[in-house]
Amino acid sequence: MSLFNIGKEVIQVLKKNNHKAYFVGGCVRDYLLNRKVNDIDIATSATPDEIIEIFPRTVPIGLKHGTVLILHNDIGIEITTFRSEGNYSDNRHPSNVEFIKSLEKDLSRRDFTINAIAMDEIFNITDPFNGHNDLINKTIRTVGNPDERFSEDALRIMRALRFMSQLDFTIEYKTFNSLVKNSYLLKNIAIERIVSEFEKLILGENAVESLNAFFENNIHTHLPNIVLNNCKATKKFTKLNTLEERWAYLMISGNYETPKEVLKLLKLPNNKIKQIEILTSGFYKIINHNLNEKFIYEYGLNNTLSINKLNFAINNTGVSDEFINKMYECMPIKSRNDLCIDGHSLVDTVGIKKGIWVKELLEEIELLVLNGTIENDMHEIQEWIKTCKLQQYKN
Ligand code: ATP
Ligand code: MG
Repeated sequence: MSLFNIGKEVIQVLKKNNHKAYFVGGCVRDYLLNRKVNDIDIATSATPDEIIEIFPRTVPIGLKHGTVLILHNDIGIEITTFRSEGNYSDNRHPSNVEFIKSLEKDLSRRDFTINAIAMDEIFNITDPFNGHNDLINKTIRTVGNPDERFSEDALRIMRALRFMSQLDFTIEYKTFNSLVKNSYLLKNIAIERIVSEFEKLILGENAVESLNAFFENNIHTHLPNIVLNNCKATKKFTKLNTLEERWAYLMISGNYETPKEVLKLLKLPNNKIKQIEILTSGFYKIINHNLNEKFIYEYGLNNTLSINKLNFAINNTGVSDEFINKMYECMPIKSRNDLCIDGHSLVDTVGIKKGIWVKELLEEIELLVLNGTIENDMHEIQEWIKTCKLQQYKN
């Protein structure tokens, strides 16, 4: 069953229980834009307690804000009670929320007109802020006064730029001016929230313009406790597929040779940081050395392909994927696991106590096998070892 059909059933159940219920938020926006809908949000006049009573399987994920996750046909759907918000004390969180019965009032607290459209189960829309018109004109505009809306919750600044990128929209003039003017308030927003929007921005189809709006207007200078260098992207940026490739590109454009520290401050998870570091270091290596078997061996096939793509995106130079794939296929060993001798058997063969020499000798053998001087064959490797001067390692 499609997500919308599941949502329809949920709305019908709420209505049977005498509550109002509508599709809202991203699913309505994406449905009207003919884009893929990822998740369904439903808004209702029912209170969280009432929702929990009506549906057998519920998870109270944000009771304070009136959000209950229900499981219907094993699909999770978020149901949020219509609400209005009190004053915002910290540029992010309302000091109190009030559950209400009016759909229009609930829509008026939402960030942008394109996100403030409600749709019933037979696809009739309620659109008090002309969001549909803005969808047609590809415009991002705050609901109400932009200065008020951005100072209430400065995360909306990042959301506007994210939607600009994802949807390939333009931010309406007054909304954009206000966004830049209020960007200093980002210092009060948790970096994790900012980065989560930023990563969606990076991956969007119009990322280049949105990124350049972000950096050229110095919005990046207002992140909490981070001095982020100025980065920029050109059209080739969009040729990069993965998030890590795109992060590496930005780091390189911002002159970060070793981006670990700044990525830590941005609170990216360690595995992601590691991957971005590998790509960045590979990029600097490839521009100073030729791409050869040793490089592919060291970085692995997929990273090499990514690094080559980065080189194209940044320097407009590189080799074909086919060339890399062929070179890889011809390599007698693809990784250390393929080498027919390991540290232990090397120690046994040589008969010297293990030490730093094991690593050095293995690396030498690896290289000789890789460039075809000796075969990846235990006997041949042993013969070669006999020719080595191992005296130096004996004491
Ligand atoms: P996505 O496709 O990424 O899920 P979305 O618009 O659905 O986009 P959500 O974060 O899921 O984004 O939020 C759902 C809806 O809640 C939004 O469409 C908007 O109406 C409202 N909303 C979310 N965050 C805010 C905010 N910071 N300020 C005001 N309204 C918000
Ligand atoms: Mg959503």
